[in-house]
Amino acid sequence: MQRVYLDNNATTPVLPEVLEAMRPYFGEHFGNASSIHHHGQETRAAVERARESVAALLVCRASEVVFTSGGTEADNLAIFGLARPGDHVITSTIEHHAVLNTCKHLAATGCEVTYVPVDGRGLVDAVDVKRAIRPNTKLITIMFANNETGVVQPVTEIGKIAAEADIYFHSDAVQAAGKIAIDVIRIGCDLLTISGHKLHGPQGVGALFARKGTQLEPMLYGGSHERSRRAGTENVPGIVGLGKAAELAVAGLEHGDDRKIAAMRDTLERELLEIEATGLNGESAPRVPNTTNIYFDGIEGEALVIALDLKGLAVSTGAACSSGAIEPSHVLTAMGLPSDRAKASIRFSLGKQNTTDDVDYALALIPETVARLRELSPVWSKTAVSR
Ligand SMILES: *Cc1c(COP(=O)(O)O)cnc(C)c1O
Repeated sequence: MQRVYLDNNATTPVLPEVLEAMRPYFGEHFGNASSIHHHGQETRAAVERARESVAALLVCRASEVVFTSGGTEADNLAIFGLARPGDHVITSTIEHHAVLNTCKHLAATGCEVTYVPVDGRGLVDAVDVKRAIRPNTKLITIMFANNETGVVQPVTEIGKIAAEADIYFHSDAVQAAGKIAIDVIRIGCDLLTISGHKLHGPQGVGALFARKGTQLEPMLYGGSHERSRRAGTENVPGIVGLGKAAELAVAGLEHGDDRKIAAMRDTLERELLEIEATGLNGESAPRVPNTTNIYFDGIEGEALVIALDLKGLAVSTGAACSSGAIEPSHVLTAMGLPSDRAKASIRFSLGKQNTTDDVDYALALIPETVARLRELSPVWSKTAVSR
């Protein structure tokens, strides 16, 4: 069966060049990067080259890059590294759970947390962020691009507000890195998260940009790895893979990969919106080039995901399955979608490996599958009378 993967916001396939770059570090280059002999020097050099590559992607200094076990750990390190009991933290209602649940834990341990809302397009208003500032506000953490809708937040405006108020600004840029240009100086953020496996690197590795002078309390204690910001022997193959992925991301943006992906995404989106009773979540907001999130009224998103998977097409809903019941996506709910419509929404996310054939395959499959599921839907047949 043909298999088409349009779920690149969940994870991306490792690019062949990335795998090739990593391979020696599972084999002949096995040294501990802290060892002073030849073997250690070899892996140390590889780790530091990767750090330069990540720094080039983010436009920062290599010394400002902390390697972690992924996006989740980097988000945790940024937030727990700064917030103390009595501090106030500002975040948004549409953050990834790596930020949202970290803030929830903070709130349970003596911090105050404000969740700024989003509008119907899925956008945070920088004015709301400014209004939320209190004398004890320590940190603002607002994501760069949303994982479910792809909507790009006004991070530069927020960075300016944070700088004026002398408050730390962290941004989870996991879904922006490699898709659009990131420049931590222009944004004016103090901390920024990326993850290897969301930009065609390996799973289990990520990085936190932490501006020089930012006093982070580590979460892990042990050796003085990562300038004492993250103890533990480095994941050398993973770090090398992340470095290569960062290099390829920079080159890809220079070569217009993003425009090619946007063109495919736009075709997919335009054709899917031709189906009756559909709509775009995040319409008229700025978005990363690879993501489209569409509701198909009258169907259960999960049912559509399963039906499409049976035909070899991988897509996803943003919904979380907790205790057997499917909860509507917190992102779409925050945008004001009624629960039914949120549950009828599907995220399509493209990657560098996708081709126009993949889009054609999806477009040949989805309209008939949606029609078939709607025929079976009691909700749909009832409303069909009034349509
Ligand atoms: C995937 C993702 C994360 C978590 O990254 P991991 O490397 O999987 O831990 C954090 N934030 C966003 C926006 C994500 O999409």
